[in-house]
Amino acid sequence: MPGIPRFRHGAGRLCLDFVRTLRHRGRPEVEEELPDIGALSAWVREFGPVHADPVMADGEVQFPAVDGGAAIVDAQKLREAAYHLIEGSRGQTGAPPCPKARELINLAAARPVPAPQLDAAGGLSWWADEPVAATLSLVARDALDLVGTDAIHRVRNCADPTCRALFYDGSRPGSRRWCSMDACGNRAKKATLRARS
Ligand SMILES: [Zn+2]
Repeated sequence: MPGIPRFRHGAGRLCLDFVRTLRHRGRPEVEEELPDIGALSAWVREFGPVHADPVMADGEVQFPAVDGGAAIVDAQKLREAAYHLIEGSRGQTGAPPCPKARELINLAAARPVPAPQLDAAGGLSWWADEPVAATLSLVARDALDLVGTDAIHRVRNCADPTCRALFYDGSRPGSRRWCSMDACGNRAKKATLRARS
């Protein structure tokens, strides 16, 4: 991945990295990291195996067939549906998943995912007719896998009270506390050191 990442990585699951693109959900300081198709394309570039960049066809730059306005609304809806599905499944209330959220995720997951291709030199690349939809299909499938398996019991909120982002605790003892070691974990470590000195 060339360059400095624009988005936060390392939540431990693709769907959780996607869910956290709405920072401080439900709070006054809420922050939308995917306000437009440019941001969504950048997210796909950072997290998916395929690029959502314009492609050169017959010497002309062509954008993949994407209606930017509709695509961003669909992506945000999918993200919030994934959030509700995951939070509902963590609640252990025994209530069935919200039908609307479930339907949205199921539909997105049914779309084609990126396909691997081997080139003549033996290199692997990924290809999709619709890179954005294909990457969001990966996100939706990951969300379904998360809520449909015991992995859901490993989803936690970041221990940093100003963050609270969801992450997947893949540590053996199940004791991971922060959404990312290089952001929240590091901040906590520095605060502890400061308090000691
Ligand atoms: Zn955090």
